[in-house]
Formats: sequence, structure tokens, C-alpha cells
Amino acid sequence: MTCPVCDAVSADILLELKGSPIYQHPVPVLATVPEPYTRDLRYFICKSCGHAYQDNFDAALMDKVYQSYYYTPAPEGVGATFRKEFIEFLLPHLQPNSAGAILEIGSSSGEILAQLRDLLPGTAVLGFEPSTVTSQRALANGIPTLQKFFSPATVAEAGSRFSCIISRHVIEHITVFDDFFAAIDTACADEKTLLVLETPALDVHWAAASIVPFHIEHAHVFSTHSLAKLAARYGWNLAAYRITESQNLIAVFSRVATPLDIELPVVGRSYADYFKAFREKFAAAANGRKIILWGAGSGGIKLVNYHHLEIEHLVDGNQEKKGMKFLGVQSLIEYAPECIARIQAQGRDAEYAVLIGSGFYREIGDTLRKMNWRGGIIAPYAPDFLRES
Ligand SMILES: [Zn+2]
Repeated sequence: MTCPVCDAVSADILLELKGSPIYQHPVPVLATVPEPYTRDLRYFICKSCGHAYQDNFDAALMDKVYQSYYYTPAPEGVGATFRKEFIEFLLPHLQPNSAGAILEIGSSSGEILAQLRDLLPGTAVLGFEPSTVTSQRALANGIPTLQKFFSPATVAEAGSRFSCIISRHVIEHITVFDDFFAAIDTACADEKTLLVLETPALDVHWAAASIVPFHIEHAHVFSTHSLAKLAARYGWNLAAYRITESQNLIAVFSRVATPLDIELPVVGRSYADYFKAFREKFAAAANGRKIILWGAGSGGIKLVNYHHLEIEHLVDGNQEKKGMKFLGVQSLIEYAPECIARIQAQGRDAEYAVLIGSGFYREIGDTLRKMNWRGGIIAPYAPDFLRES
């Protein structure tokens, strides 16, 4: 295997995930989508630069999925914690040149750009967002957005230059880095332009044997070291970074900064041990109770597929998913507060444990506590899930 970041050939298998869901989001109950619904994934870890990558990434399949009528990008409204962490980290780096212009690659519904524009009056913003639904939502909210893929040609067409270019949770999907960085070059105002990337941090996910960032859409999972290495290949020096509480890496690059010296990620916990520890921890936490899976997205379905869990109800906090199905799963999706309230009205809380199949375990846990939920709460995506006990 040749590392896509540093071209080294010394790599070990990091983890194999059999039965990984292809479709990360629910579909209408009557939808007929051709199989397969799952794919076996395998990630290698490069010993030279500390980069994790799929050796059999199927770009053609992913293109088909992305173009499918039934592919919907991540729902909005649930990423508030990630966005807050990003803005808090970014602001001090932006304030000196707040009168500039900000470009976001993969700007979704424009939430980040809207916040930055409010916080930095006079700043011009532009988003690139290929998804029709989300880019239209951004436009409706008054955020200038181009419904296009980000490429050298589309950037040249847009004609503007930017003092800051941000991209959150995009680079781990990219297969041709040359095009991505060439497009960034085209968009730069000058040598002081900042490039700010957010991506899941392999450093902490591996340390905890967390499977969160490993799924079909992620060709890569970057460590701080491997992201710095990749950016340096294109002339971008790592100027500052933070690994957030949500286990994302936010990295600020500049062409003129003196690059920070970054160490390789420490060898993490073995994923085989993780699967064994998960089974034991889950069995203890569930304690024979019936399971309500809260999280009708990839995070929830991966738990069910990888750990062969039986679930009684599949629920989600997004009311729009009610009555939909997740491809490959039998139960239809219920609206979480309704399902919880119904079980409470029957006085049967104690028979159930809610398995939170989402990175937003804090918000969901808070919601359950506010509802006075007396059943169990199991949050496998909390970093301390396997550490406690
Ligand atoms: Zn490498």
C-alpha cells in the first residue's frame, strides 16, 4: 500500500469494519434503492506519517451514492457543538484582518458563514455547496452560495479572492488532493491568506479505539501530523491547531508562518481489544433491558451492525425522519420525544435503556434528563465509555 499523503509503503492494517452502512441517512419508507446497503471497509495506518486511509476506497460507488436521490448530507441543527468549537478557535486568528473575505468549501446551510459575518462586520462571505437542498437553504438565509463542486474552474468562475478559506469535514472525503489544493490556490488573496481545515482527529480517536471517524465516505482519517504533512506538500505551513472536546482537529495554515513541529500520533489502543471491551461494557450497561437506539444515522446503525445488537425502537430527534426507514434495518424511525413520552406514560422506563448512537451524546443525554427519563442511558460515543467501570 502506498500512503496517499507521504507515498511511504510501510503500513499496517488499522481496522476492518464488516457491514459498514453505505447510506448514512434514512430514506422514505416506500423508497426502492438497489442493494448493496453495506460494504466491508479496511483502513491502513501509515507508519511514516501517521495517516489512516481506506485501501479499497470505492470512489465510483461513492459518486453514485452522492448523486443518488436518496443521499442526503448531514442534517443541520445537530452540529451546534462542532460549530461553536470551530468559531471559538478561529476568531482570534481572524480578528487582525476582519475586513477580509471568507470562503467556505462545503458550506452546508451557511451556518458558519452567517455567524462569522455577524461577528466580523464588513466581512464578505461566499460558500461552495454542491448539495441542492442545503445550498438553497443557505441562499434563503441570505448567505451567498454557489451550488457547485469546489474546483479550480469553478473558483476561477467565481472571480473573488479570499483572505481566509475554511473547510470543515471535507478533506477526509477527498481522493484527488492536487485538484483540491489547486482550487485553494486560485482562491487565495495573497500570501497571508489563512487556510483553516477541520477534520476528525485520528490522534484522539485512535488513542481511545474510537470507530467514529471510520465510515464509507471517509477515504482518510488524518492525524495532526499527517494533515500538516499533506498541507506542507502544497506549501501550507501549520501555524496553529486545536483538538476539540468533540475530538476534531482544527488546523490553521499559512504560507508565511513558521511551521509547528508535530509528533507522530502515539500508537493507539488495539481495535480488536476495543470490540471485546465494547461487548462487555455494553452488556453491563444494558443489564438485560430492551434497547431504544437514539440516532437514525450512520453512528447508530454502525453500532447495530458492528456489534450485532438487537434493538426494540429506532428513534431520532429530527422529526423529519419520523416514519422513514434506514436501508437494511427493519424498524421504522420514530420521533424520539414521542417514543420516550409514550414509554414513560406506560410507566415502563425501567425496562429500557436508551443507546445514544450519535456524537451528540451530551445534547441527547441532557434532553433525556430534562424529560425525567428513569431508564438507562448508554453513550458509547462518549470518550470515557470504555474507560469508566
Ligand atoms: Zn504516510
